[in-house]
Amino acid sequence: MNRPNDKLPVYRLTQNVIRAKADQFRLDYWRLDKIPVDIDLAIERYGLDIAPLPGLRALCAQEACVSMDCSTIWVDYTPANNLAQDFRLRFSLAHELGHLLLHREILEWIPQSGVQSVLEWAKRIREVSADLYSSRLEKDADEFAGRLLVPRNDLERETRKVLDATPNQQYLRSFRADPVREHLARKIHRAFQVNVPVIETRLRIEEVYP
Ligand SMILES: [Zn+2]
Repeated sequence: MNRPNDKLPVYRLTQNVIRAKADQFRLDYWRLDKIPVDIDLAIERYGLDIAPLPGLRALCAQEACVSMDCSTIWVDYTPANNLAQDFRLRFSLAHELGHLLLHREILEWIPQSGVQSVLEWAKRIREVSADLYSSRLEKDADEFAGRLLVPRNDLERETRKVLDATPNQQYLRSFRADPVREHLARKIHRAFQVNVPVIETRLRIEEVYP
């Protein structure tokens, strides 16, 4: 048993705190006011190792995982892959970083006894998140990753560019918001090197559109 104590750590971060942590991390470790954020460089500057573990995705249905000693993020890629082109993998790296920066004390609290493999460890993290924290940890890591890779100012600016180039904005605004958000996201997601749904989510929860 590897728990500092048996008491379940209390955990409650507001969305504003999570966003502030993501903004601060970007400022400290990416350092440039420029998109796309080079997430693997920033993670290495922070002092974590990124270690390729080909086959991770097939093994445990996720692309990345924090190691048990919290020193490394394992990731399902080989040096032959182009990380910058793998938008999903970039988000996974930022998500795992979120686990570490937002609730490291819980990762350290999770019992490691009986864990024999990466698969078992990844499973145990997910179970703890789902059972004890109502999946709060996963949602918060997603929020951290989204905000880190999609800074709000840049999102607003890129959205504004597309809207300004639209001949009749009033016409666009007469549609339901969901399909318009998807349209906007398809136009701008490449600038951030994230997948379309990540931008759709940011537009909605950061109230950039509508
Ligand atoms: Zn996770």
